[in-house]
Amino acid sequence: MTTAAAREEEFSRQREKMVQQQLRPRGIADPRVLAAMGRVPRHRFVPPAMAAEAYADHPLPIGKGQTISQPYMVAAMTEQLRLTGSQKVLEIGTGSGYQTAVLAELAAEVISLEIHAELARQAEEKLAALGYDNVTIVVADGTRGYPPAAPYQGIIVTAGAPHVPRALTEQLADGGRLVIPVGRHGYQMLKVITREGTRLREEDLFLCSFVPLVGEDGWRSP
Ligand code: SAH
Repeated sequence: MTTAAAREEEFSRQREKMVQQQLRPRGIADPRVLAAMGRVPRHRFVPPAMAAEAYADHPLPIGKGQTISQPYMVAAMTEQLRLTGSQKVLEIGTGSGYQTAVLAELAAEVISLEIHAELARQAEEKLAALGYDNVTIVVADGTRGYPPAAPYQGIIVTAGAPHVPRALTEQLADGGRLVIPVGRHGYQMLKVITREGTRLREEDLFLCSFVPLVGEDGWRSP
């Protein structure tokens, strides 16, 4: 076996361990989500110097003061979208592109907005290299959503918002689910908002910690 192949095999073992030790015991149960988490090569989305830590049970820095979320957080938020394969999903905060790849495995189409042009470009390259052809990355302030492709059956925000941006609930399809951390700098409550016709139902899940959602209808400064 070549060195490169041996390395990939080791990463694949670490990925399986991540699913068995970090995700299943904490209640991630959707078989499609577990399979996607077992497939997406997370080590390709972290800085090369940190590849050995890619499958560890915590977030990692990806540059520009941003982070790639902990595997459990990615799985838990994704599971809340209840994707069956036919949905169009909007993601706010592409970051490394890892969460985007997990969504691309589970949805028909993913549109991901990132405010940092450099992070967006890097993520786009990685996703293309891995063959994801159902993803569009747009450099934009996600607090305005993305009207051209609305409505969305799922919206996921991977940065902490001071409140739920109105544009996002407006762009949610009937029956669609919005997963978003809302609260102060430091800690937020992970919320799921479901559109039922003209009504919005709101559910609190658990406390979490994300970098700030900075934009017109978010935090005004990091
Ligand atoms: N899902 C990502 C997490 C990235 S961290 C991952 O797993 O890698 C949050 C990201 O949100 C950062 O890249 C940050 O630049 C981006 N962000 C912050 N405010 C934003 C906004 N208003 N619109 C779009 N992206 C934003």
